[in-house]
Amino acid sequence: MKNIAVIGSGTMGNGIAHTFAQSAYQVALIDISQPALDKALATISKNLDRIIAKGAITEADKTATLSNIKTFTSVADGVKNADLVVEAATENVEIKLNIFRELDKLCGENAILASNTSSISITKIGAVTKRPDKVIGMHFMNPVPVMKLVEVIRGYSTSNDVTNTIMELSKKLNKVPVEVNDYPGFVANKILMPMINEAIITLYEGVAGVEEIDTVMKLGMAHPMGPLQLADFIGLDVCLSILKVLQDGFGNPKYAPCPLLVNMVMAGNLGAKSGQGFYTYTAGSKELVVAPSFRKG
Ligand code: NAD
Repeated sequence: MKNIAVIGSGTMGNGIAHTFAQSAYQVALIDISQPALDKALATISKNLDRIIAKGAITEADKTATLSNIKTFTSVADGVKNADLVVEAATENVEIKLNIFRELDKLCGENAILASNTSSISITKIGAVTKRPDKVIGMHFMNPVPVMKLVEVIRGYSTSNDVTNTIMELSKKLNKVPVEVNDYPGFVANKILMPMINEAIITLYEGVAGVEEIDTVMKLGMAHPMGPLQLADFIGLDVCLSILKVLQDGFGNPKYAPCPLLVNMVMAGNLGAKSGQGFYTYTAGSKELVVAPSFRKG
């Protein structure tokens, strides 16, 4: 496996491209938006500078990593020689199904097609291709160059060979892969999102305030970040949509999103990216300004 195509060059796509390129793979980074590709290359360059500053790599390593990445706005051109495609486009079922239908036609018959989806069924994605045995989830964590985990998700039809190949490949990226089956939320979000939802319910019920809830979970449970701040970083709209996937997928009311979360998303308070969530942020950054006092209703 030598040639990797990454579809989508946003938050996750640029990190995935960076990670493969730093491990000497040839990467085709593909996006429908040229500005997104330009921004991704600038982000990768900046992140490599950070790693140089820590003394972990040299300027020559940076140059080599960047030279391993080519950008494309045409999927057909980008995936021509791909042994593996990692799709990291917008989290939308129709967008992803269309991408996989197209990839199935464009890619060589042995190419493996992976998705970085947080919550969409790998089995459903595989079913729109003629190679469901070669469709798999490769769920990296944000920020990709830093976070060690890759959740490797076996769809209902994913073969043992393909699963083993992706497990071994993840290790070559210096990651720790964990194999999981394809059920709503996989493992990471099946556990994380109910915890975040419960923190929001705790706030909604007036048991404690924003900072109190986060402090209990940070200092009491050794979490590096409280669940409400983490929700702000993930995006409250993203949390809401994953909770709906869990609720629909399992048909269990325990996953019902807290009405406060629903209201905040409807009001456009999406967390750090909108400047306002459970905390207030300096525009366009994750710099926390203040926790708002909570008003029920
Ligand atoms: P993002 O919005 O930052 O980037 C998505 C990119 O996809 C954009 O640049 C967009 O132009 C591009 N795109 C959309 N349609 C496309 C198409 N048809 N062809 C090519 N490019 C296309 O999104 P993100 O946060 O990087 O998330 C990407 C995927 O990773 C999603 O499936 C998400 O669920 C998953 N994910 C996100 C995180 C996270 O913390 N952000 C963590 C794990 C997994």
